[in-house]
Amino acid sequence: MSTPRPILIVEDDAALRASLTDQFESDGDFIAEGVETAREAEAKLACVDSRYDAIVLDIGLPDADGREFCAQLRRDGRRMPIIMLTGADEEQDIVRGLDSGANDYIAKPVRMSELLARVRAQLRIFDNSEDAVFTIGPYLFRPSARLLHDAARNRKVRLTDKECTILKFLYRADGKAVAREVLLNEIWGYSSAVSTHTLETHIYRLRQKIEPDPTHARLLLTETGGYKLATAALHGGNG
Ligand code: CA
Repeated sequence: MSTPRPILIVEDDAALRASLTDQFESDGDFIAEGVETAREAEAKLACVDSRYDAIVLDIGLPDADGREFCAQLRRDGRRMPIIMLTGADEEQDIVRGLDSGANDYIAKPVRMSELLARVRAQLRIFDNSEDAVFTIGPYLFRPSARLLHDAARNRKVRLTDKECTILKFLYRADGKAVAREVLLNEIWGYSSAVSTHTLETHIYRLRQKIEPDPTHARLLLTETGGYKLATAALHGGNG
């Protein structure tokens, strides 16, 4: 099981919005929130602790052209995948939609299986991209910059390459323990003669950097034979 990904649905048709939200939620891989207008979407995105991994965006909104709204989000530095919903008569505008920075589009009437597949595909691409950002406890983790940012305390933690790789690997395990041998092999390679002591040293330094109290780790936990990230740190404290 993977961590449910929060997505924002911007669609003014109330019935379609409710249906999309329900279907994303019942899929199990997503937490979906629906809004009616670009203005509401902006307000949601502006919340300090809001996080959306992807946006499903209708082209025809009451207060904005979805394409222009999309372009504005990109100008604001938002990089998450955006999938546009287009009306059947808007097909010719798709190119403009993609020009505005959307990652993909799907025509109405929406086939849910197709929309889910496209959102998943874009998230896969995004997660491996330079723009990927993940939440770990109070931090936003940006692997490409090797940076953890605690916005509430305006604190930045710089990571070494190895520390960054360890965190990425533990993040992907989604709260499940990863054995020391697996981490060693994945991070230093099978042929390496690196010992578990080296791994323990890296974990120790990582805790010094990220844990409020490194002697009582609350984010990076030791498990029998390995390490894991606390479930609460991955699920916004609700885990
Ligand atoms: Ca509409």
